[in-house]
Amino acid sequence: MAHFRRTRLTNPDNLKRMTFADLGLSEELLKAVAEAGYTEPTDIQAEAIPSVLMMKDIIGIAQTGTGKTASFVLPMIDVLASGRRRARMPRSLILEPTRELAAQVAENFEKYGQNHDLKMALLIGGVQMGDQIKALDEGVDVLIATPGRLMDLFERGKIMLNGCELLVIDEADRMLDMGFIPDIEFICSKLPETRQTMLFSATMPPPIEKLAKTFLSNPKRIEVNRAATTNKDITAFKVNVEQRAKLSTLQWILRNDHVETAIVFSNKKTMVRELNKKLQSDGFRSGEIHGDIDQNTRQKELERFKSGDINILVASDVAARGLDIKGVSHVFNYDTPWHPDDYVHRIGRTGRAGAKGRAFTFVTKSDAEAIDNIEKLTGNKIKVFGKEDVRVDLIDPSADKKPGRGKGKGSAKDDRAEDASKKKPSRSRKAKSDEPREADQAPAEQQGAEREAEAPKAKRERAPRKPKGEDAPQRDSKPKGDSKERSSRRRDQDDEPVPAGEWNGPKPGFLDFGFKG
Ligand code: AMP
Repeated sequence: MAHFRRTRLTNPDNLKRMTFADLGLSEELLKAVAEAGYTEPTDIQAEAIPSVLMMKDIIGIAQTGTGKTASFVLPMIDVLASGRRRARMPRSLILEPTRELAAQVAENFEKYGQNHDLKMALLIGGVQMGDQIKALDEGVDVLIATPGRLMDLFERGKIMLNGCELLVIDEADRMLDMGFIPDIEFICSKLPETRQTMLFSATMPPPIEKLAKTFLSNPKRIEVNRAATTNKDITAFKVNVEQRAKLSTLQWILRNDHVETAIVFSNKKTMVRELNKKLQSDGFRSGEIHGDIDQNTRQKELERFKSGDINILVASDVAARGLDIKGVSHVFNYDTPWHPDDYVHRIGRTGRAGAKGRAFTFVTKSDAEAIDNIEKLTGNKIKVFGKEDVRVDLIDPSADKKPGRGKGKGSAKDDRAEDASKKKPSRSRKAKSDEPREADQAPAEQQGAEREAEAPKAKRERAPRKPKGEDAPQRDSKPKGDSKERSSRRRDQDDEPVPAGEWNGPKPGFLDFGFKG
């Protein structure tokens, strides 16, 4: 049984004073790091890089935003600098749960490896296999893959894993959520036993501990703070709202909270699509990413968001996990995430690199347990959004009378002036869109498509998965009881954050904070 050595960052000040040169990286890498503009290693880099260079196994308990990618990519480049590549036998393997993360790690390799002669291949679902197979045939030093596509090519005999002496399992807890653990166990069993393994995970639930015990040998354990929970740059709110008022509430905040760029998360991809359509038809510059969209379109959509062509990205967890997009001013959880870790990941898309960010989580009555779990995990009671929290200085009292349109740059006032000429959406359409949704209509195959896109074609046994994330059935969000009963129940709630109609913002009833959060 493996032994875990626990490393604590007892004196972060010492680590802060460290430079990249102290970590034992080559001159070529130091040059690439300087070109990337990094002046000092992050905590996880300071802890991990020397150990990886000494060929030790690593457990890194860290999430995106901590600099964890460079903590394995940088030393890997130096480790791989000597050695020869062979056809179909990659020398190292990095497993990522999603295509986007895999593509992001590949970008990191290109950036840091610019002064090295290393070949890399990206094996992800949703793109043609031809080029991937060609790259493998020519021999690669680094293979970055999602488990599904890798298993697929392995089973077709296009790839051999017995030359792979360095393995990174990234975002292991996410792999667990997505049902990839059996694939990972299979892949590990095909790699040589004497190899170096690094496992990164934001959390260490028991199945991940078990995976680490089975496949890592005497690993060094490095734990760094959760970036998002301790991130003082993110102001987080929960917005108590009824299901039917979510859309109007979102649109109101989008227009009035000086939103420059926003990611709006929904738990279901069907809702991502629907929401994006509604925002677009109301004049917002929005786009969408979720698992049913092919890889090329997802990348294009991301590029449009990064370039400012659109300023609102409606996203599912799977598609947006770990994305490193600079300057996102707002994150909206249109649905309270069911898994508390997803909350941490979602809000971590804002408040990055020292910038300020605002995160709004919409909480309906049926989300009481989910929000409770989030608050337990983060150790914080999230502030209920109230009128004093709106950026009043930016509010134009007539704002709610006109459909607004977010802009990458420029003031909210400008936007409203521009939109004044736009037609107000017809009541009939609005009434329809505000209605509570019944169980999702998408066929089961469609709901499972995201998972399947990454999954191998061959049948393998998998532990039954709890319905979760995009695959889970939508809860019944219909308010119970008749309207009279509901409104009297509402009046009984003593924790109503914003009595609708009292504030200088939305029309009465527009924001419906009709229950106790
Ligand atoms: P990651 O946690 O790997 O997703 O990295 C988050 C962001 O931090 C990325 O934009 C990196 O380019 C950036 N980054 C990584 N290492 C450093 C560093 N030492 N100094 C400044 N930024 C960094």
